[in-house]
Amino acid sequence: MGNIKADLKSALDCVLDFVAPRYCVCCGEVNPCGKYKYICPECEETIPPSNGAKCLVCAEIIGDASHANVIGCPHCRENPPHFGRSMASTVFGGAIRKLVTGLKYNSSVHYLSDITEFMRETPNLEAFLLDAVLVPVPLHYTRRLKRPYNQSELIANCLLKAFPKSNCIVAKLLKRTRHTETQTRLGKFERAKNMKNAFAYKQSIPISHTTRIVLVDDVMTTTATLSECANTLKKNGFTSIDAYAFSRRL
Ligand SMILES: [Zn+2]
Ligand SMILES: [Zn+2]
Repeated sequence: MGNIKADLKSALDCVLDFVAPRYCVCCGEVNPCGKYKYICPECEETIPPSNGAKCLVCAEIIGDASHANVIGCPHCRENPPHFGRSMASTVFGGAIRKLVTGLKYNSSVHYLSDITEFMRETPNLEAFLLDAVLVPVPLHYTRRLKRPYNQSELIANCLLKAFPKSNCIVAKLLKRTRHTETQTRLGKFERAKNMKNAFAYKQSIPISHTTRIVLVDDVMTTTATLSECANTLKKNGFTSIDAYAFSRRL
């Protein structure tokens, strides 16, 4: 039965490729048969490796795969974020950068299928998400009005799709209380300052304070945004808060 279903799916994919060809996000060539729908086999080479040893707090890669993971890199020890641990599925760069920026700025929601595939391939992510309430990082309404969606909410929904047995739910427990300057050109300390008190807790959603929260964002550059979200939830009585970003900018 499983084989018939798989055959039907690949037949349907062939028809779809004929009607609406899939183009590689990097080189723009038609990509009928890659592992990813929007990254051709050649451009897969541009995906930065994400299998090195990591800091389990901030998800930064601290060495190659022969090294052990650490709980807290020098930066995290000096300036610990308000969340406990974090995970990312990819390193920001090459084809991954194109997927993320296409989703964020060009409404390329069709990239979500590849984003979900990268999530499925992330070792230990399903266990990390088990029984958690996923809280997307909110956009301020002035920015939300300019975009058709909040990309962090879409990323959270992809996690549900990638791991249907993880028993997660998505709850929008946070809102942005003020518009924050775009972080792109800011350094580490300016980012933390820029984010201070930028979020508020939405009391109206009934979630037990003992629930484990996993904050969700598209990209983590420093820990500033996710840490400030965690701080807001902590101030409102939540005690177990971790974080996930689809991509880690190193
Ligand atoms: Zn390509
Ligand atoms: Zn760290």
